[in-house]
Amino acid sequence: MTAMNWGTLISAVDAHDSFLLSSHLSLDGDCVGSQLALLWYLKSKGKKAAIFCADPIPRKLTFLENSELITQNEPNENFDALVILDCSNIKRIGWDHGKINPKIIINIDHHRDNTDFGDLNFVDPTAAATGLVIFSFFRENGIDFPLHVAESLYTAVMTDTGGFQFSNTSARALGVCSELTAMGVDCARIYEKVYSSHTREGLTLLSRVWSTLQFHIDGKVCSMDMPLSILDEIGAKYSDSEGMADNTIIADGVEVGIMTKHSLEETHFSLRSKGKIDVGKLAKTIFGGGGHSCAAGCTMPMPYEEAMGKMLDILEKELESKLLLV
Ligand code: 5GP
Ligand code: MN
Repeated sequence: MTAMNWGTLISAVDAHDSFLLSSHLSLDGDCVGSQLALLWYLKSKGKKAAIFCADPIPRKLTFLENSELITQNEPNENFDALVILDCSNIKRIGWDHGKINPKIIINIDHHRDNTDFGDLNFVDPTAAATGLVIFSFFRENGIDFPLHVAESLYTAVMTDTGGFQFSNTSARALGVCSELTAMGVDCARIYEKVYSSHTREGLTLLSRVWSTLQFHIDGKVCSMDMPLSILDEIGAKYSDSEGMADNTIIADGVEVGIMTKHSLEETHFSLRSKGKIDVGKLAKTIFGGGGHSCAAGCTMPMPYEEAMGKMLDILEKELESKLLLV
């Protein structure tokens, strides 16, 4: 666990009046839960605080209290402070932060490739989720929080560990979730809301994506694809596919999973690894890409077939160099 100088965060909160919170594009449970938890804290200190994200909140996370406060309304006023959570670099917020003219930028994250873009940086790469960093802030500073904040933090940790299945499911992650459960978090309810409450359209989308399943490179790589054009056809939302990438590594013998989402011009890769290949490092070799060793992403500005060919070449070389191909 990385030690933090929380005094500087508390002083920064004391010294400013208005705070805008934001996070990465393609919102997930960790970025939503962390933002809601910090929003509660700032409001409890009597501060003016709001959340703006360039992308919408996934429907399955709207059960979280105050989730309606995560808006896509472009801010048209200045804020004293910009707090960016769960975001490895400032470009990934997907909007121009200059427009709010912040006096200070505060960066709270757990990505190991975080660029320390803030005036204050609280980055703990040993944490399985940004929610754990926020929990440590509360715990180490004696900040008692209500049940709805415990639910937000639990959701953050549960989703970033893939429902407690990834190799980042540490004693710390489980210990914090145990404490949150002792506070009254209903684990079964949260699991159901996040993983078992699909719309018909959302489930139809998943069935179409499953039908694209392919194996490559001697069965070591598995892929699924979502052409963005099928969203309108089915009436589903982009966020209905959130979490689907995790299914690309569930087959026996697979080392790396690829989930692509493509338009005619651009192909986004969600990469997953069972642990032997560091997909975060691989993603970083593509412009703008990055992430964790077991879950990462990148975008190639080219159509699916071409992008997929390039990605498979990269993976074949990597698997060979790690002696994973016979
Ligand atoms: P997901 O595949 O669930 O969208 O993302 C997995 C992880 O990779 C997340 O930690 C996310 O922040 C990171 N990630 C996904 N896409 C990109 C990208 O295009 N660039 C960078 N730097 N990180 C990404
Ligand atoms: Mn995260």
